[in-house]
Amino acid sequence: MSLPDRLEPRFSADDALFGDRAGAPAPLDVLKRVYGYTAFRGKQQQVVEHVVSGGDAVVLFPTGAGKSLCFQIPALCRDGIGIVVSPLIALMRDQVEAMKQLGIRAAALNSSLSRDEASDVYRAVSSGTLDMLYVTPERILTDGFQQMIARAKIALFAIDEAHCVSQWGHDFRPEYRDLGKLAELFPGVPRIALTATADPHTRDDIIERLALGGAKVFTTSFDRPNIAYEIVERDQPRQQLLRFLDGHRGDSGIVYCLSRAKVEDTAEWLNGQGIRALAYHAGMDRSLRDANQDAFLKEEDLCLVATVAFGMGIDKPNVRYVAHLDLPGSVEAYYQETGRAGRDGLPSEVWMAYGMADVIQRRRMIDEGNAAEEIKRVERGKLNALLAICETAGCRRQAILAHFGEAHGGGCGNCDTCLKPVETWDGTEAAIKALAAVYRTGERFGTGHVIDVLMGTVNDKTERFGHVDMPVFGAGKDIPSRTWQSIFRQLLANGFITVDHTAFGAMKLEDQARAVFKRERQVFFRKDRPEAGRRSKKAGRSEKPAHGLAGEAQALFDALRAERTRIAKELGVPPYVVFPDTTLIAFATERPKNHKALLGISGVGQSKLERYGDAFLAVISDFTGR
Ligand code: ADP
Ligand code: ZN
Repeated sequence: MSLPDRLEPRFSADDALFGDRAGAPAPLDVLKRVYGYTAFRGKQQQVVEHVVSGGDAVVLFPTGAGKSLCFQIPALCRDGIGIVVSPLIALMRDQVEAMKQLGIRAAALNSSLSRDEASDVYRAVSSGTLDMLYVTPERILTDGFQQMIARAKIALFAIDEAHCVSQWGHDFRPEYRDLGKLAELFPGVPRIALTATADPHTRDDIIERLALGGAKVFTTSFDRPNIAYEIVERDQPRQQLLRFLDGHRGDSGIVYCLSRAKVEDTAEWLNGQGIRALAYHAGMDRSLRDANQDAFLKEEDLCLVATVAFGMGIDKPNVRYVAHLDLPGSVEAYYQETGRAGRDGLPSEVWMAYGMADVIQRRRMIDEGNAAEEIKRVERGKLNALLAICETAGCRRQAILAHFGEAHGGGCGNCDTCLKPVETWDGTEAAIKALAAVYRTGERFGTGHVIDVLMGTVNDKTERFGHVDMPVFGAGKDIPSRTWQSIFRQLLANGFITVDHTAFGAMKLEDQARAVFKRERQVFFRKDRPEAGRRSKKAGRSEKPAHGLAGEAQALFDALRAERTRIAKELGVPPYVVFPDTTLIAFATERPKNHKALLGISGVGQSKLERYGDAFLAVISDFTGR
């Protein structure tokens, strides 16, 4: 269990940020005074103005774009309480705490509260002394809750993680479906749904299920320029992972694995390698799982090894890397998971190792699942799309964004293929041999055996099936077996073959293969990197730390960080709730000397200035006076 929310028993009109709120505050004033930011970002202002004036909105921005302000500021500007539907109890506490630090009167109502605490919240709602209330989707439509808010003035409803309403998404939550009722129950109260999931299916579901047909839809580019992409062929996965993590000593990051057992093994192994790692998966004891999540949020240099059960709603801004030891199920899932890196906009790296075995395993998961055949077909298509991104010789970012229907010119300069272009080669002859070997052996075997046949390997299996006598036996000796593996992956990615997991990963020919046989179609393959798997000066890897500080500034940053840790520990909150790294970096480089200078720094609002201004000024002056 996470700690229950302690409400500060001091809701009174004096605490209001804007006195008695005579005359609604202007959004830009709130942005500056409360958050300490100088300007809205991207389309934030448009969304805020639309909702402040009473309109419904659907906000589809990528992670880190700043969705929270899109509902928080309108809630502060409009009369009444903002009610936020959020799926995760374990995270509400940190979100509420972050708002309290800003001087916003926020509370959460969920099953982890005691009776007394819950009645405190109820009282605060009815007396109109709360700015913002977080609630779970299952609670909001209960009679008790409805009765309570029937008497309150409501500024807006925000539905966070709105993709949970969609069965197409990866986080479907049935309780979200009923939230559409809010439209009838509270006509005239603006509703704003937010998600970082952009695919058209999910978007349509949100609009339909949440009765947001009349809402204005806001979208922005889904590009995350501060994230460096890298995808490698799996060779010795643990060593490869270790080399990747070498560049991230002292950073916080996530390593995703497909199975619970692999999560536990990997975490244990990493600890043995001197990397502090904790495990997280849905099969763990709840209290341990929550404790590990909490440690990840609060500590600065922890590696969390997790299944996909981890991550939704995590707003830790300084996750510096995300590694995948297994292929995710779709481009959407990959993008969500990697998107958890670099919310603060600082350089971050994402890395994945994958191989043919992943594809077979994923196919099995889809085929053996109990979804309708139509959905399975979609899932297979999604998997193939991800595979194509893994095998592309072009810019990864361009390929990923193209999947979401967004044009990007390529050559991003921040992905492995851009930083180290892959060569391609005319592999038509090799493709013909590969496809012939699949065909001649009866489309009954997986890559291991078919490669043995191509390489002319005499073993029990090639002899038993009489494959040693076939013309294709040994026909591919001129190419190393590692390259054959790559060839088969690319044939799969490009739809020339498919794998049948019900037959142990047997490869079968697709219609397109015919054109290759007939030499009507050329096939180009990406060249395996000779150094693949070895740690190199590669892709996206810079030797500098993410924040780019050095010397004195770095030393001051470390001192500021220590102060932040001290304060955060005392309050029992994650350090970023006190100040994000970006603000500390500005402290370290600009060295503000007084309150006025502090207020000029992004992330320092009125409330935080009063709470922590002096503590950080002291650190800066001690340092400067040394
Ligand atoms: P999202 O929910 O879209 O993933 P968040 O709301 O968590 O993003 O915002 C990401 C980070 O950017 C947060 O640290 C937030 O405080 C910061 N941020 C948001 N809007 C602005 C802005 N206008 N100026 C400066 N920082 C901002
Ligand atoms: Zn690129």
